[in-house]
Amino acid sequence: MAPAYKRILLKVSGEALAGDNSFGIEPPFLQAVAKQIADVAKTGVEIAIVVGGGNIFRGMAGAADGTDRVTADTMGMLGTMINALALSNAISRQGVKSKPYSAVPMPSVADAFTAREAKASLEEGYVVVLGGGTGNPFFTTDTASTLRAIELECDVVLKGTKVDGVYSADPMKDPAATRYDHVTYDEVIGQDLRVMDTAAFALARDNGMPIIVYALNDAAGLAGVLSGTARSTRVSK
Ligand code: UDP
Repeated sequence: MAPAYKRILLKVSGEALAGDNSFGIEPPFLQAVAKQIADVAKTGVEIAIVVGGGNIFRGMAGAADGTDRVTADTMGMLGTMINALALSNAISRQGVKSKPYSAVPMPSVADAFTAREAKASLEEGYVVVLGGGTGNPFFTTDTASTLRAIELECDVVLKGTKVDGVYSADPMKDPAATRYDHVTYDEVIGQDLRVMDTAAFALARDNGMPIIVYALNDAAGLAGVLSGTARSTRVSK
């Protein structure tokens, strides 16, 4: 069966790499994430990844401690590059070509991100791993995911979370919360459902980019999400 999507943008949060820890990279979790990605890439789906950095440093936390916000966010962006290098290398070790790009210029570390070059790499069969977020403070890697998906003409953004989709309230706190199969951009923004930040949803809405929210720990994995066997919520018009 032909894959449902030709090109996807996958958001990998820092916490997905930290595993049971709150800080750093746990090799078994890194390998498991890389294997899921490589398995899907081997089916012919083109994959661009935006990596988060919450397992290393979050700008908001630094700013709360008194570091100026621009400096703190720059530290956060550098954290995402550490994850990008680790994930890209782990994907290569699964037998799939992968290339890291940085939104923050660091020529001896990774090529600077341009949509043109990243697209060419996708067409050549590389999984591209995008570090540095948008390259600007005051943004998040969720917004970077939507932005890059639009720039790279991806079919969809895949956002893995702790739960299997978007709920009417936080299911970790409210047992009466119900899961949506589909929800509109305006509903997630209007009801402040906070699966991604508002800027990410607004950008997706204005450019018609669908987002699929799924559970990172679903046994069916990323392949299951793409084939529709894993439960998820589609955010679109
Ligand atoms: N960040 C930024 N600009 C961006 C993306 C990220 O300044 O475009 C910084 C910000 O400080 C953020 C940190 O990098 O807290 C890590 O990213 P994020 O919190 O999105 O990571 P995740 O929660 O997905 O692991």
